[in-house]
Amino acid sequence: MTDNCLFCNIAAGTIPAKIVHEDERVVAFADIDPKAPVHILIIPRKHIASINDISLEDNELIGHIHQVAVQLARRFGIADDGFRLVNNCNDAGGQTVYHIHFHLLGGRTMEWPPG
Ligand code: AMP
Ligand code: ZN
Repeated sequence: MTDNCLFCNIAAGTIPAKIVHEDERVVAFADIDPKAPVHILIIPRKHIASINDISLEDNELIGHIHQVAVQLARRFGIADDGFRLVNNCNDAGGQTVYHIHFHLLGGRTMEWPPG
């Protein structure tokens, strides 16, 4: 837990969020400013600043996040039509919160290339 980190505080329950999944390793909650009809953020409870900072010991955790993403996609009815799972890294990647998170976006057709 990094005390001044927004997403550590959401994972700890000290800052409220609309939580849609939690287990011992991962928390998922609705994005406060949704960019699609379904927009969920999936985070590890462990504070990792960005995907640049993952290590080999995080492999299972990162895999678990992907399993949770697919479970949520099914639950929210976007798995069959399709969805996007996005990680933004650092400034050029569009990252604004420096606790690693994966955006699960769906419910509309996504464009490519992204902006
Ligand atoms: P990124 O720009 O990839 O770092 O994504 C950060 C995301 O966090 C943005 O989509 C924000 O809308 C979202 N966000 C910021 N504050 C909150 C919050 N308190 N609760 C839920 N989502 C948030
Ligand atoms: Zn954190």
